[in-house]
Amino acid sequence: MKIARFSHQGAINFGIVDDGDLVVLNGDPMFAGYDTTGERVPLESATLLAPVIPRSKVVAVGKNYRDHVAEMGGGEAPAEPLLFLKPNTAVIGPGDTIVRPPQSNRVDYEGELAVVIGSVAKNVAAADAERVIFGYTVANDVTARDLQKTDGQWARAKGFDTFCPLGPVIETEFDLASATVETRLNGSLVQSAPLTDMIHSVPEIIAYVSAVFTLLPGDVILTGTPAGVGFVETGDVVDVEVSGIGVLSNPVS
Ligand code: MG
Repeated sequence: MKIARFSHQGAINFGIVDDGDLVVLNGDPMFAGYDTTGERVPLESATLLAPVIPRSKVVAVGKNYRDHVAEMGGGEAPAEPLLFLKPNTAVIGPGDTIVRPPQSNRVDYEGELAVVIGSVAKNVAAADAERVIFGYTVANDVTARDLQKTDGQWARAKGFDTFCPLGPVIETEFDLASATVETRLNGSLVQSAPLTDMIHSVPEIIAYVSAVFTLLPGDVILTGTPAGVGFVETGDVVDVEVSGIGVLSNPVS
């Protein structure tokens, strides 16, 4: 099931994508279930928004694909997931503009699978991780690459406003075993990898992360990017696609 958050005629609602329409829900399905209002809104007349606003945090995993570790000159892939945080104020939705900040001369796209947490989670075993997952969406872990290098830690480089596009929908029945993540820059394919190329799997990541942070419903985990990262310029359009979920498209200013 694909869940969207959208605006239509001045109202913001959640809906289930069904045959070109949005079946309008009575509230946020993460908390209110799937009661419908009986109303249907054509997808083409709705504006899709970020499908989740993380209540507390976006946790991200760095260097989780070997070919990306190699392209960054990083030597060995980390034995344990490398964690960092992005503030929830960095989140934007489909079609929203990624703003290159004046502090950076090199802003990169990073196409990624994102996990949306559905329940309070602390010290969750990998075998139980499925229980705390609400669904999956697509993310762009936008990064000021120059500041990532000069700052040493990544709060600024990863945390600017607009640096966490999410969407277009949350897929609640996603199976990543045969899925790919692909990024297109102005229509040209620049990243493509099977999600099974991740070094640390989603259950392993949830176990590791939840041993550090209490995860809250609506928190989001970005699972890392494959090889092919590169910079964006004003006027570019970045499309990140996870097969089975959708395409997250954002212009750059
Ligand atoms: Mg990343």
